[in-house]
Amino acid sequence: MNSSPKLLEFAPGVWPALMEDLRRRGRGVRESGAFLLGRQRAGVRAVTQWLPYEQLDAGALNFDYVRLESAAFGRLWDVCAARGLEPVADVHTHPFGPRQSGSDREHPMISLAGHVAMIVPRFAQVRVLPVDVSVNVYLGGGRWESHFEREAQARIALL
Ligand SMILES: [Zn+2]
Repeated sequence: MNSSPKLLEFAPGVWPALMEDLRRRGRGVRESGAFLLGRQRAGVRAVTQWLPYEQLDAGALNFDYVRLESAAFGRLWDVCAARGLEPVADVHTHPFGPRQSGSDREHPMISLAGHVAMIVPRFAQVRVLPVDVSVNVYLGGGRWESHFEREAQARIALL
């Protein structure tokens, strides 16, 4: 299970800019989220861009939790094809801690084994470091492997 501790690798500047974007979009009062786009190589998911959920579905954040209409996924694949990238993970904020909700666990944004979902605490209103988030790896069949604190930090590289 721990063949590749560094699971997510963020290109220079991407992490702080992503957190600032999530913070701004959620305004401290609601969840916000995005797909992380990049490439996979040798078990590492290298993130170079992100695509906010509102750009795929204008109503994505109108509920208590983030959700996307099915047409949003067609748009996601179109954007990825145009940019020559793939969705390597997703991220969204929670009001309090970084633990996945029941809904998060039941409805992976991408139901492929190995897909990674990151949860950012406190609507990203305070400075967010890798040690603050959860890194959740979808195993398939409704099961997840979740990492917190030092275990989350160990799986995230900021280049
Ligand atoms: Zn959630």
